Amino acid sequence: MSLDYVKFSGGFEKFMPKEYRDMVEHGPFGKKISVSQMGSFKEILEEHPMCAGCAMTLFIRLAIIAFPNPEDTITVGTAGCGRLAISQAAIPFVYGNYGDQNGVASGLSRGLRLRFGDKPKDVVVIAGDGGTADIGFQQVLHSWFRKERFTTIMLDNEVYGNTGGQESGMTNRGAVLKMAPLGKKFEKMDMLQMAKVAGCAYVATVVPNNPRRVESVIKKAVLIAREVGSTYIQAYTSCNIEYAIPTDKVMEDAKNVENDRYQFTEYVSEEAKQYLAERYGYKEFLPKPAAPAAAIPTKA
Ligand code: SF4
Repeated sequence: MSLDYVKFSGGFEKFMPKEYRDMVEHGPFGKKISVSQMGSFKEILEEHPMCAGCAMTLFIRLAIIAFPNPEDTITVGTAGCGRLAISQAAIPFVYGNYGDQNGVASGLSRGLRLRFGDKPKDVVVIAGDGGTADIGFQQVLHSWFRKERFTTIMLDNEVYGNTGGQESGMTNRGAVLKMAPLGKKFEKMDMLQMAKVAGCAYVATVVPNNPRRVESVIKKAVLIAREVGSTYIQAYTSCNIEYAIPTDKVMEDAKNVENDRYQFTEYVSEEAKQYLAERYGYKEFLPKPAAPAAAIPTKA
């Protein structure tokens, strides 16, 4: 794998903008960086035009820090609030038509494997609940059935946030929104169960107020997707505008929702466990040593 494309060509360093020089000299490319080191390195995503206090921006920031090889990662997105931040990151971002992100990612992932062979080139879809569970649902589901090797992350703010507050398939039953004034009449879609049924090798829920957990699930999902199959992360990323959450209460809301209906769940297929243990040394997935055989009592 080469880091040449993020380095300066000889003699050009002094002409490059400071932001670029900082990224090359103090960014995470080619290093092992953790969320616990935030504040001590130049981040790939530092600015965004989203609403003040939006939990989605914190989650996206943490997710990008957690990418195992950010210099070899391409994100794919679609219409929605999240792409306003993702597109500001200093890594490639592909923006397709609304809902086609998993179709685009399927072709991109396959093409990268043909072009680069065994060198990991990670593809990560990051899209909202509308793009993932509603408009892009067919392409999402079929990419999972085909076991396409990339990660899908749903930014679940339980509403169409940037178009004024319409209900999505992920909105909770009964929720009243600006553009759904009578309240949603149907249950929130169980995308976690659908991901398992469709054959995803890794499925997890997460909220942004636990950075280490976000880091852990993103890393596992991306690594598993390299060789085993599709992986899915569903992140609660509240819309403080449409749900009228005061900005200083956003993390409190995330904690409450986590304790209530967004408790941490993680499914890892047996194949993925073995892969993580053998390839990346995940001790928790190493085979347990066989219990010693019980002594056979001798007859008196
Ligand atoms: S509309 Fe909601 S989800 Fe979108 S940026 Fe604003 S707070 Fe975040």
